[in-house]
Amino acid sequence: MFIETTPSDTSLSIERSLLAERIKVDVTVNAVSDHIITPFVKALIREGYAVKRHKGGSSILSQCSICRQGYVHTMIKDDVESEHCPHCRNACNNNHGKLT
Ligand SMILES: [Zn+2]
Repeated sequence: MFIETTPSDTSLSIERSLLAERIKVDVTVNAVSDHIITPFVKALIREGYAVKRHKGGSSILSQCSICRQGYVHTMIKDDVESEHCPHCRNACNNNHGKLT
């Protein structure tokens, strides 16, 4: 299984800053945002991934095979599905191939 780290440190730090700015402007943002997961998912979207969702609209979540924590997001980029962990930032292709 090929594993890589996503998103990049650059994308993640940009999204962390943007979240901090949004909370300064609107404190209700703080209540609906997770300080790890929200910037993580937004940084992946910034890098061209789309969130794979259930028909009802909620994200498809699973447990990380590396760190065993939850909230692993299934994402799609260039028709390839991959799983991304917000805690250890490991990503793996569902077909166990290299991410492109
Ligand atoms: Zn993990």
